[in-house]
Amino acid sequence: MKRVHANKRLGQHFLHDQKVIDEICKQRYQDASAIIEVGPGPGVLTKHLANHQLPMHVIEKDKRFFEHLSDFIDPKQITIDDCLKISLPELINKHDLGRGKIWLISNLPYNVGVPLTISFMKVVEIQYMTLMFQKEVGEKITPQVTSKNRFMGSLYALSQNYFECQKIIDVSKASFVPPPKVESIVLGFKRRVDPVIPLEEFGQFEQFLRNLFSSKRKQVKTVLCAFYSSTQVLSNLQKQGIDPKLRAETLSLAQVQKLYRGIKYGD
Ligand code: SAM
Repeated sequence: MKRVHANKRLGQHFLHDQKVIDEICKQRYQDASAIIEVGPGPGVLTKHLANHQLPMHVIEKDKRFFEHLSDFIDPKQITIDDCLKISLPELINKHDLGRGKIWLISNLPYNVGVPLTISFMKVVEIQYMTLMFQKEVGEKITPQVTSKNRFMGSLYALSQNYFECQKIIDVSKASFVPPPKVESIVLGFKRRVDPVIPLEEFGQFEQFLRNLFSSKRKQVKTVLCAFYSSTQVLSNLQKQGIDPKLRAETLSLAQVQKLYRGIKYGD
């Protein structure tokens, strides 16, 4: 088998730490009925995931890995493409993966980790995810709660509204070849059955969050009045008992959800 040199532009850092590989692959959610792996590279995770004997599909941008991946799974289970450009619902349909609950696994390429994660969240068939992030990004999703309480942002609000999220394992630079410049973390996601903001409103909620966090240092009243009518914003803040002078990053998830609903429905 040919050795493949890591392409930095594709965020290629390959796992070689067996403890981390085992920890990711054993997460198996009991009722998962299919597996999708994004960015399998040479297949260090794929090899173990295939042992679960579930319908499986992998999506890899770098065609050099097709041959490696074919050692572990049928070539029909391999899509060589940019996962940001394909339609996951169409792929799920085409490969008959969507009748139950999909478990999506990815040691994410860090340069596109956030947009990929957001694209996975929108797909209702994806019920579970095990994702590796650079630590700084992962900690925006499952922060250590501090007295300062300033972790609120779009990624946190989207993740926590739609999923129960937990840390699985910290991963050191030395667990990869070549080692990245930053530490990593693996998180587990389990889709909430009844999220406060329903999945049908994902796009609108995402846009609201983009607005709300567009100027983190400004007061929440000032930020929201730049996008919505000031009467609507002020009456909403008052109704929710939120101090208009607070900064958006200090709000709780419940406050963000209420503000969104108040502005959308006048709740
Ligand atoms: N899964 C392997 C491992 O754990 O060792 C490789 C992980 S490496 C951090 C990220 C992988 O994602 C690389 O194989 C890279 O080619 C692939 N990749 C990068 N961007 C991608 C994209 N947009 N769509 C699909 N795969 C992508």
